[in-house]
Amino acid sequence: MPHDGDHDHGRKPELSPIALRVRALESLLVEKGYVDPAALDVLIDTYETRIGPRNGARVVAKAWTDPGFADWLVRDATAAIASLGYAGRQGEHMVAVFNSPETHNMIVCTLCSCYPWPVLGLPPVWYKSMPYRSRAVIEPRVVLREFGVEIPDGRQVRVWDSTAELRYLVIPERPAGTGGWDEERLAELVTRDSMIGTGLARMPA
Ligand code: FE
Repeated sequence: MPHDGDHDHGRKPELSPIALRVRALESLLVEKGYVDPAALDVLIDTYETRIGPRNGARVVAKAWTDPGFADWLVRDATAAIASLGYAGRQGEHMVAVFNSPETHNMIVCTLCSCYPWPVLGLPPVWYKSMPYRSRAVIEPRVVLREFGVEIPDGRQVRVWDSTAELRYLVIPERPAGTGGWDEERLAELVTRDSMIGTGLARMPA
């Protein structure tokens, strides 16, 4: 299973069957005048570049430095996240799940590809893949190991299944050796995968 969906491992340059269907649908919708291709491009660009995992990283860094904000995330993640300006489609009902020495959290959408767009942007290819969606629930520890994450036996792994109603954000543990760091510097340690639960926050160099 590819773990970095942004590059192709020797895949042929032809479009995948899904991409072909999407292209066919898009052409049809444009032809019938239902969608404006320029508007579609703006929407995709917005989620690919402007909105993205940097937003989630800011949420995590604030949770690490501000206990009041962390509490708010526990009680009402949607409102706490919206207070930083991150709201909108695919993020209407957010739940923040906190990693701890007892529990590691991991997110999947077994049905399709539900993902919290306002804080993480568009989902990586592997997140939408059938192997990830099925194996994440069946053998989460094996999947995590393939991502290079070894969870100690004494630590429980909780897998959360996203739905159209609820989208999850993992708050990874704050790395040791970052005492006194400000939010901006801490946010640099927060990777996209650490907020899906298939990674951990980076250790300080
Ligand atoms: Fe889904």
